[in-house]
Amino acid sequence: MKYFSAIYLLLLVYIIAALVWWGLSLNAQSSQIFDQQLINLRTQIDSTQQPLLFQKQLQALELKRAARTKQYIGEGSTFLLVIFFGAAVVYNSFRRRILLSRQQNNFMLSVTHELKSPIAAMKLNLQTLEKYHLDEEKKHLLIDKCIQESNRLNDLCNNMLLASQMEGRQMKTHREKLNFSELVDRAFTDYSMRYPERFDAQFSTEDLWVDGDPLMLQMAVNNLLENAVKYSPAKTIIALQLFPKQNFATLQVSDEGVGIPDHEKAKVFQKFYRVGNENSRKTKGTGLGLYLTHKIVTQHQGKIVVKDNQPKGSVFEISLPVV
Ligand code: ADP
Repeated sequence: MKYFSAIYLLLLVYIIAALVWWGLSLNAQSSQIFDQQLINLRTQIDSTQQPLLFQKQLQALELKRAARTKQYIGEGSTFLLVIFFGAAVVYNSFRRRILLSRQQNNFMLSVTHELKSPIAAMKLNLQTLEKYHLDEEKKHLLIDKCIQESNRLNDLCNNMLLASQMEGRQMKTHREKLNFSELVDRAFTDYSMRYPERFDAQFSTEDLWVDGDPLMLQMAVNNLLENAVKYSPAKTIIALQLFPKQNFATLQVSDEGVGIPDHEKAKVFQKFYRVGNENSRKTKGTGLGLYLTHKIVTQHQGKIVVKDNQPKGSVFEISLPVV
């Protein structure tokens, strides 16, 4: 990218310098034409005998020279503007392509890791179960870990499948009137079992009903809960609040984690986008979760926003129209 930028900048400077040089030489030519025309005028009209006529002709020549200069400046500036505009468009699209391909590369690295680590963990747990005669409690612990890892794998596969379906526009949604409160409660129970003492829930007493696809909405909610766990320290509390707000069912997932800087807030919903870079990041991920969550929520005519939590962390809020 740096190499490309340097060559591109050099080319641009060369084109602009050439344009300026052409402008200056045209102007010099115009002065030469004027000088030649003045000599001709002097040979045709004697300025001492016919001073008025001479002055009139001289003024006409000067006006023509000024018109030529104006034309060069006008055309030159238009060319410059077109060149700058074209250069900006080309540079931007190239930069976007490079960024996307870098993100896709990171994505492939992350996906390989994300797929391999639960498989390796499950294999190890199953091998331990096979090799040793463990007591019931330990057996349960290992089996629970296997289930957790297979859930992670399942979520990841679902995210990847959905992302590719969205890309090919083959995604079929199945809408039905569904109890969103129940769906969120299920996710809360599931995650509270997986991460004991991390989740706290405050749900409004009335059930909130929305028109939606249960699997998609479950995925959207799971992505938010998964992220809250991933991007906040162990033992901090993740608060879930579900309440009606005007004609919407609003779910807030608040964590006490690393938070998201203001200039990154809109970007985290882009495909493959991850805050920071691969070397400095501690957590693994694909950059697909929030992209899909955003797509799912907007397809349900809802809204998703991210805000700062106080004193630290993030609050992800999704609002879906109630029916
Ligand atoms: P992934 O978690 O797989 O990287 P996501 O699309 O779910 O992808 O999230 C995109 C990025 O947004 C993450 O890489 C992370 O940097 C940031 N992010 C998401 N959720 C949170 C959160 N609760 N707190 C802080 N950062 C977050």
